[in-house]
Amino acid sequence: MTYVITQKCVGTCDSACVDVCPCDCILGPVALGDLRAVPARERGQRFPGLQLFIDPDECVDCGACAAECPADAIYRDDDVPAAYRDDIARNAAFFTR
Ligand code: SF4
Ligand code: SF4
Repeated sequence: MTYVITQKCVGTCDSACVDVCPCDCILGPVALGDLRAVPARERGQRFPGLQLFIDPDECVDCGACAAECPADAIYRDDDVPAAYRDDIARNAAFFTR
């Protein structure tokens, strides 16, 4: 079991989930410092399509990130809505590149 970040993160990507994760398993294609250096309202334009991902091999299924997410973008893998099921593989794939 793991948690998954869906594409609902895109457009918000505030990195709040990163701060509460006990095992530092949430990452994205942009370094956290670079992401946070850009005002939240400008991130969508500066980093089109940007979202974060959860490493399924490191996640300890605590749920802290899901509770913190303002975009309701994070689900347990069993609970990911049908429209976002592809995001399960996208999260795992990010960590195998
Ligand atoms: S808290 Fe939600 S919206 Fe913010 S970066 Fe994490 S998944 Fe994306
Ligand atoms: S469920 Fe817990 S361990 Fe897994 S990514 Fe979220 S905060 Fe981190």
